[in-house]
Amino acid sequence: MTDLYIHDSAARTKRRFEPIDPTHVRIYVCGPTVYDLAHLGNARPVVVFDVLARLLRRRYPKVTYVRNITDVDDKINARSRESGEPIAAITARTTEDFHRDMAALGALPPDVEPRATQHIGEMIALIQRLIANGHAYAADGHVLFSVPSFRDYGKLSGRSTDELLAGARVDVAPYKRDAGDFVLWKPSDENTPGWDSPWGRGRPGWHIECSAMSWKHLGEEFDIHGGGHDLIFPHHENELAQSVCAFPGHGFARYWMHNGMLLVNGEKMSKSLGNFRTVRDILAEGPWAGEAFRLLLLRTHYRQALDFTMDALREAKAELDDHYAMLSRAPEAPGGGAISHLADWVLAPLLDDLNTPLALARLRDLRTLENAVTVGGSPAVAMERAGLSAPPAPGVAAAAFREAAAVLGVAIGDPAAWLQGGADDAAEVEAAIAARLAARKAKNWAEADRIRDDLKAQGVLLEDGPGGTTWRRA
Ligand SMILES: [Zn+2]
Repeated sequence: MTDLYIHDSAARTKRRFEPIDPTHVRIYVCGPTVYDLAHLGNARPVVVFDVLARLLRRRYPKVTYVRNITDVDDKINARSRESGEPIAAITARTTEDFHRDMAALGALPPDVEPRATQHIGEMIALIQRLIANGHAYAADGHVLFSVPSFRDYGKLSGRSTDELLAGARVDVAPYKRDAGDFVLWKPSDENTPGWDSPWGRGRPGWHIECSAMSWKHLGEEFDIHGGGHDLIFPHHENELAQSVCAFPGHGFARYWMHNGMLLVNGEKMSKSLGNFRTVRDILAEGPWAGEAFRLLLLRTHYRQALDFTMDALREAKAELDDHYAMLSRAPEAPGGGAISHLADWVLAPLLDDLNTPLALARLRDLRTLENAVTVGGSPAVAMERAGLSAPPAPGVAAAAFREAAAVLGVAIGDPAAWLQGGADDAAEVEAAIAARLAARKAKNWAEADRIRDDLKAQGVLLEDGPGGTTWRRA
């Protein structure tokens, strides 16, 4: 098995992946703050790290993938004040929406999904350790992390202390010893959620939540920490500072992975530009849209900026149409080593820092190879790329396709259901086909042709074969 390399944001280079425990790989990815529907940018890390988790599961006996839910945050409190909806109702509904939307993108649930409000005890314990170690101090109902106490602060994001302080110097709260110090705990009034603590009734800062949940579920040190590029500073810089200072001798995450940003029509998504899109907006395009959006996300390397357009979404759908058409025609494979060999060839680019665009290109080559033996077309170029001297036997390329597609999580549905568009009117189409068959049996060719033309006008194409009539959407 070839080695896996991943780009480590902390080292700013690709590094060979060596898990702390080769029998158990541990990953933490920052999850959503649950106050509103997931937007397109929120979906990107979910899909990227879903592919990483699937790949790791193929290579290692055990993987624990933790993705949290931030259900205590001032954005949630503000939303509740605006709308009058109780906080618990907002967070429960938004968590459910998030689960539904991410499932529609083919993302498997993480192994553990800790909620911040269920880890307040761990947060308090961490803060107490930081105070005892001289890295935090209590002042005026707050507890702050002392940035000057941690020499390596700024290393992850590559910012100098001077830069950090220049940004923080505006409007410094009086209880801060140093302008860069950040909040671990803050006081809550009676209208704000709060928990009893040694520093009075209050609530945690955002950063300490992830340090506490990763510690609880993955230990003082684990393999990979992931998230969006926009989280490197201050969120991940602060998580790292907290965890390393609370547990001296441990390095927190061995590898840091960050996905690039998502643009819409070439611009940063924002409500004021009118290009703000939720995942729910995209799913409303049709039953195909979730999987097409997933494919669209994976067509760009995860570290690059990705530009979402409706044209790109429709292109992704067209690619899936072609994949499913091939799968629906492919015969059962004879079995044997050629299948795994070809699947490994498709997946090999993923070992090079998750190069999904190249893996998807190879998946298309497998489609070409299968089509060459079922419907025709030249397999020469695909054969050369795959290092084959002869085209594979019918069904072999399709079987390899299925094996590799399972790791990418695309084109893994039922081909017939896809080609029929998951249509609500499927029963009507079936009834029309039955009526046409009856007309043909009665040698009423004009009626049979009329039904066929009617369906064609509705975008339904019939194909008569030895096994009967099948249909698909144009
Ligand atoms: Zn986090």
